[in-house]
Amino acid sequence: MIGKLFVLSGPSGVGKGTVREKLLANNDINLTYSISMTTRKPRSNEIDGVHYFFVDNDYFEKAIKNDEFLEYAKFVGHYYGTPKKHVEELLKEGKNVLLEIEVQGAKQVMEKCPEAITIFMIPPSFEELEKRIRGRRTESEDVVSQRLSKAKKEMSLKDNYNFLVVNDTVENASKAIHDIILKMTK
Ligand code: ADP
Ligand code: 5GP
Repeated sequence: MIGKLFVLSGPSGVGKGTVREKLLANNDINLTYSISMTTRKPRSNEIDGVHYFFVDNDYFEKAIKNDEFLEYAKFVGHYYGTPKKHVEELLKEGKNVLLEIEVQGAKQVMEKCPEAITIFMIPPSFEELEKRIRGRRTESEDVVSQRLSKAKKEMSLKDNYNFLVVNDTVENASKAIHDIILKMTK
């Protein structure tokens, strides 16, 4: 049995991580989250090997050369990528796999894996997105501005995805994604 690949994308601060955690907390959909690799520094609550594999630039660039990524991208000064081997193994075991990635990486997955099911998360409004990303208090003002200006361009790509989910409440958004996964894996 081969599992299905799901891609969740959307602007930084929309709530992808929060909704993903809720989705995985009550996991009756055989879903496994693929842990990404990044050169970004860990936030105070983040654990290496749980939230990300935190590595330095040299390590990441060697992994690119060795063709170890299903996709990767540079986002506001740092590399982020999906290690390929683990995803392939999980799919072969029949697990459904969730990638939570930004739009450049999502585009690469759409090209390489046209069977992947893609979901784009949008905020109720741009003002709410700004409130959320600032409210998280994890980035400097400079990085927040760069992420918000990127968000405008990212939002224009929403029609390239199979499903759109509005993150008005975490409850609604996680239920909507849960229902998409259930429907697409029947
Ligand atoms: P992303 O992973 O897309 O960058 P996060 O999951 O880190 O976003 O969420 C950004 C901030 O918004 C966090 O502080 C989170 O608690 C908050 N948040 C997420 N979803 C909602 C929601 N539906 N309503 C209000 N706040 C939310
Ligand atoms: P953050 O620094 O807020 O954790 O992540 C920044 C952005 O990178 C988010 O939109 C997040 O979804 C995305 N991201 C996380 N992991 C990956 C990955 O493996 N590949 C790509 N392309 N983007 C990722």
